[in-house]
Amino acid sequence: MSALAEILSQRIAQHGPLNLADYMGECLLHPDHGYYTQQEAFGRGGDFITSPEISQMFGEMIGLSLGTTWQAQGAAKDAIVVELGPGRGTLMQDLRRIAPAVPGFDSLPVHMIEASPRLRQTQSDALPGVIHHSDVSQLPQAPLFVIANEFFDALPIRQFRRNSSGWEEILVGSDANGLCFGKAAPQPYHFLAHRLEDTAPGMIVEYCPALPSIVAQISQRIADFGGAALIIDYGDWRSQGDTLQAVYQHQHADPLAAPGSADLTAHLDFEAVHNAARAAGLRPTRLATQGVFLERLGLTQRAQILAKSLNGAALQSHIAAHRRLTHPDEMGGLFKVMGLVSEGAAVPAGLEP
Ligand code: SAH
Repeated sequence: MSALAEILSQRIAQHGPLNLADYMGECLLHPDHGYYTQQEAFGRGGDFITSPEISQMFGEMIGLSLGTTWQAQGAAKDAIVVELGPGRGTLMQDLRRIAPAVPGFDSLPVHMIEASPRLRQTQSDALPGVIHHSDVSQLPQAPLFVIANEFFDALPIRQFRRNSSGWEEILVGSDANGLCFGKAAPQPYHFLAHRLEDTAPGMIVEYCPALPSIVAQISQRIADFGGAALIIDYGDWRSQGDTLQAVYQHQHADPLAAPGSADLTAHLDFEAVHNAARAAGLRPTRLATQGVFLERLGLTQRAQILAKSLNGAALQSHIAAHRRLTHPDEMGGLFKVMGLVSEGAAVPAGLEP
């Protein structure tokens, strides 16, 4: 048994089973054995590869979208650029490269929300001068231009299976063979009331407890001071079924097999983002696929310009990266984008109706 499996088994023996969110939280962010606190997760050598690590064009398009929105909203001098869960800082480096194309946008300060001390160091090395916070409540009261790519899928979720008298929560227990799944007695849950209309007994739904307050705190600042948020992730409107996924060295793995060594994610339910933003007075944009969003921003024209200085294997890999980011059967269709802005404010480029 791994060190973290040992720690969690002892805790379960003393205090009873964990819900999935508590389990996922320990696996990802345990100070000594957590996945993000310990591993070099990203890029070709890591367990998975994200859009900014595939091509510089991704961060450049995000920079154009946020920069032109800032300009269209009046180019507020006290605005800040914010990234949630920046990983290695690659997206922000690419955004900064394109920022001078929108005069003044390049002088805005960059704030980052990052829970892992090790990744904060990596991000500060990549972008000297960035300001770190461990959670969104510490962000200043100012106009915010926010990007979150593959941040929400790393937030812990709880899972519930519907039965005839309520919802059985899926739990993590332990037996002689190690960690195992179990379930709690059925109960009603107020935050699942709206799911009775689109589920039948036996179906699984997920709930991300941290999401409403994170979206509300960002939305409140955008409602009061202006700005926009771009939320990009895999998932859909009102996700259904078990989407918990463990990935270890680019392969799917059993979520209980190697706590702290495998990445754990779940699909983002964009309806939950939409509802929390609406409650704070914002008007969320439509949900677009990543492919449509990037094409509307001019990704193909940018790809053609970059291609002119490439040949051989570098050109082939550039063409493959373009396809991977935009094709409907690849990240272009699997990933979705939602923008959050105030009623009547300029909508981020790429997400116009
Ligand atoms: N956006 C990056 C990395 C995505 S991985 C990219 O596209 O490459 C998820 C990132 O969110 C990591 O940086 C991880 O450490 C961070 N993170 C995960 N949970 C977090 C939390 N609860 N609070 C703050 N950061 C978190």
